Amino acid sequence: MADNDLMEKLVSLSKRRGYVFQSSEIYGGTGSVWDYGPLGVELKRNVKDAWWRAMVHERDDIEGLDAAILMHPKVWEASGHIAEFTDPLVECRNCHRRFRVDTLLSETGAKELETAQCPSCGKRGEWTEPRNFNLMFKTFMGPAEDSANVVYLRPETAQGIYVNFLNVQQSARQRVPFGIAQIGKAFRNEITPGNFTFRTREFEQMEMQFFVKPGTDEAAFEEWRERRMKWHTEVMGLSPDRLRYHPHEKLAHYASAAGDVEFFFGGTIGDEGWGEIEGIHNRTDFDLKRHQEFSGKKLLYVDAQNNERYIPYIIETSVGADRVTLAVLANAYREEAVEGETRVVLSIKPSLAPLKCGVFPLVKKDGMPERATAIHEDLRRRGIPSFYDEAGAIGRRYRRQDEAGTPFCITVDGETMEQGTVTIRDRDSMEQTRLSQDEIVNWLTERLR
Ligand code: ATP
Repeated sequence: MADNDLMEKLVSLSKRRGYVFQSSEIYGGTGSVWDYGPLGVELKRNVKDAWWRAMVHERDDIEGLDAAILMHPKVWEASGHIAEFTDPLVECRNCHRRFRVDTLLSETGAKELETAQCPSCGKRGEWTEPRNFNLMFKTFMGPAEDSANVVYLRPETAQGIYVNFLNVQQSARQRVPFGIAQIGKAFRNEITPGNFTFRTREFEQMEMQFFVKPGTDEAAFEEWRERRMKWHTEVMGLSPDRLRYHPHEKLAHYASAAGDVEFFFGGTIGDEGWGEIEGIHNRTDFDLKRHQEFSGKKLLYVDAQNNERYIPYIIETSVGADRVTLAVLANAYREEAVEGETRVVLSIKPSLAPLKCGVFPLVKKDGMPERATAIHEDLRRRGIPSFYDEAGAIGRRYRRQDEAGTPFCITVDGETMEQGTVTIRDRDSMEQTRLSQDEIVNWLTERLR
């Protein structure tokens, strides 16, 4: 389970090893916007690729889409975001920091606002009246900055899927039930951001909308709920005891059933350390009906075989790429005492790890650097991300890769030069196996799946 300082430790490890940096750091940073460094971009890309594989490549009934961030402003009227996408906000009269009422109450443990203590200055009960605040970022399209030209940065990717529902269904010749999957950026002017990359103002979503015949929606919801829970444990490698499904009691305006997949991050995240990483919703026919009404275009599915026409119901699975990436890091972080020192390890699943392999010459002489370089270059050519390191004692090189989350390290030593064998060290057990240089690729490939 996580300790309460875990986020702080992850922030510092992420900077040290190149996972995540604060955005515009040299200018003092931008509020709750983060940049992924060399290892972070690889990890997040592996997370997204695994999702795309499970959703699109391994299925015949889900199609991919990449819709634009900027959409017609009427989309957000139809979706309800202009009217409903607001958070009640209060300001501390003492230090003028603003907070979302719900997160303030859950994070301070107060029953009502009057007794809540300001997390910033410590004053109790000094709050302004709650005021609603729309979370969408506004900008202008074209040269004139007037209200006729206002457009929004999308706060979710889902609407791009709904408005393309018939384009995809007809061009891909899909029949209900089928789904559309999309990965893309979303923007929310969050009032109480924070907790590293858990709540940011710019983030990436991986959303899949599954279109079903009304009446079959409840069974489909259950199927997707189970499938998604399994994905988090089996594909992301998240510990089952740090995952739970939390059904919503209060439903959003568009949903008939909803729940969150939550991960235990610890610290001040969410409900006593449990934070949402994915939402699963039965959105009924709300979205397609609204787009039909606001656009004046029919969004009916025609089932020629059964001579039926209807507006499908939608089961949505919506997961944050950044939150899952953070969950993978939090799940992987371990500290252990080894020979009187603390060893920090990121036990990321090998299939997700940014670097798969470190390659080291034991010493910088006797032809070992040349042999190790040849192995490293061969791995790279075969698409196995590898890192060559000859600097410092071998123990320190292992530790650097432990912190970076690299699952295997190959060392070229005297026996390599005489007998053609290398050692491969396992990050988690620290055990070393000796095998012939020719077997390296097969050995690794089997373990990187
Ligand atoms: P929360 O209650 O935490 O604000 P939400 O219920 O508004 O989240 P959804 O609208 O269901 O979130 O979005 C689906 C997913 O998108 C979430 O499960 C989360 O992984 C991700 N997400 C939403 N908002 C953010 C954010 N500000 N920063 C990072 N990821 C986010």
